[in-house]
Amino acid sequence: MRDTAASNWSRRRVLSAAAGGVALGATGAFAGVTPASAHGDIQTYSTVGGQRTVYEGNGALTSFGYRPSFHTRCDTWMNFWNTHTPSGFNTPFRVWCYGVHTDHRVTEAHNNGRGFDLTRIYVTSSTGSLVRRFNGRYDQWNGTSSAATERLRYWATAASLHYHFKHVLTYLYNSAHHNHIHFDNLVSGTGNSTFATGSQAQVQHVQACCRYIWGKTTGIDGIWGPQTNQHSTEVLRRIGVSSGSLTSSQSNWLAFNRGSTRKGYGTQAY
Ligand SMILES: [Zn+2]
Repeated sequence: MRDTAASNWSRRRVLSAAAGGVALGATGAFAGVTPASAHGDIQTYSTVGGQRTVYEGNGALTSFGYRPSFHTRCDTWMNFWNTHTPSGFNTPFRVWCYGVHTDHRVTEAHNNGRGFDLTRIYVTSSTGSLVRRFNGRYDQWNGTSSAATERLRYWATAASLHYHFKHVLTYLYNSAHHNHIHFDNLVSGTGNSTFATGSQAQVQHVQACCRYIWGKTTGIDGIWGPQTNQHSTEVLRRIGVSSGSLTSSQSNWLAFNRGSTRKGYGTQAY
């Protein structure tokens, strides 16, 4: 049975499809709410977690509009990513994206300044140069010789996002997300996320982490089943969670994502 959040999510997908689709794979909008009236207070920020943001379209340092409470969540996520990636990932970082607030297309999250389309993260190396340590451009790395490394980092970063946001859409979700990861706080608000087995995007994420980060044979179909339950429970035991499964508690879900971020980046071997 789907929980309320999953049902709302499903509804947005239906409305999005009815609108004929939108650029950048947004999540759709509720009927009768025009973008301008929907978005409320939008503030402009040049950073997330103190790290400058860059527009994917031109590679330039760029400020974006956010709902302040969503920006606070983005700060928290960026600081978490910094904490759980290796100590050699020095600041300043550069966080690349396709955008945050927009009124140019119908998308509830972006119209409200509550959605972020993440494309890359660069960190400062020991020699002072900027080096890319996350690439959300599956359209660029899929099928290349660096795919295994990029995929590992991709799902490790996706785990850091799933920790903080209930609504995270990756390349597995649909082709509109082959060039970025979308995340928003429409469902999770000011808190961390919770897990629902009826969420296709969350189940895809669990399966991808089990397979690509933890080396299991997990099939990826977006449907919760015994194999996914077993493999994710094995991951929980390995990272030190002594009881319960992914569906037992929010803390187990958050532990799974924290561990997957750290394992994927090699911060901790477990
Ligand atoms: Zn988006």
